[in-house]
Amino acid sequence: MTRITLVQGDITRQTADAIVNAANSSLLGGGGVDGAIHRRGGPAILAECRKLRAGHLGKGLPTGQAVATTAGELDARWVIHTVGPVHSATEDRSALLASCYRESLKRADELGARTVAFPAVSTGIYGWPIDDGARIAVTTVQETDTTVEEVRFVLFDHHAYEAFARRLA
Ligand code: ADP
Repeated sequence: MTRITLVQGDITRQTADAIVNAANSSLLGGGGVDGAIHRRGGPAILAECRKLRAGHLGKGLPTGQAVATTAGELDARWVIHTVGPVHSATEDRSALLASCYRESLKRADELGARTVAFPAVSTGIYGWPIDDGARIAVTTVQETDTTVEEVRFVLFDHHAYEAFARRLA
C-alpha cells in the first residue's frame, strides 16, 4: 500500500529518494518549480538533461512522459522530470496529466525509489485549476500499482494544500 502524505512548502527543501520536477519538454529549465529545482540542485541536473537532449530525447520529452536524472545537490537521489499538459478550456487533457503521475511512479519503481515527492504538476504556469489538479493527482496515485511506499505531495501555498487535503479527506 502506498501512503499519501501532504506537506506545505518548497519541494527543493524535501528529503526523498526522488523529487519530481514539473518540467517543460525542452528539459533545459524554466520557471516555477523547475527553476527552483535547477537553482538549488546545481548544474549537474542541467548537464544530465542536456545529455538526454543530445541522445534519445533529441526532440524533448513528450507531454505526459517522465525521465530521471541525478538530483545534484538536492537531498534526494534522483529528480524525475515530467511534462504536464497546458490546461485547455476546449480540450480535455486530463489523461496526459494522469500520465505524468503514472509515468513518474514507473520511473521511481525502476530506480527502486521508496519515497517520492511530487509538486502539483501543471497547476502553476500551465494553468490547471488546483481542485481538478488535486483530484487527478490523488486518484491517479491511488489507482497506480507501485512499489513506492510514500508519495508526498508538496504544495507551495495554503490554497493548494487545502485542495489536496479536501481530496484526501
Ligand atoms: P507547471 O508549468 O507544470 O504549471 P509550475 O512550476 O509553474 O509548473 O507550477 C506547478 C506547481 O508547483 C504550482 O502549484 C506552483 O505553485 C508550485 N510550485 C512552484 N514552486 C514550487 C516549489 N519550490 N516547491 C513546490 N511547489 C512549487
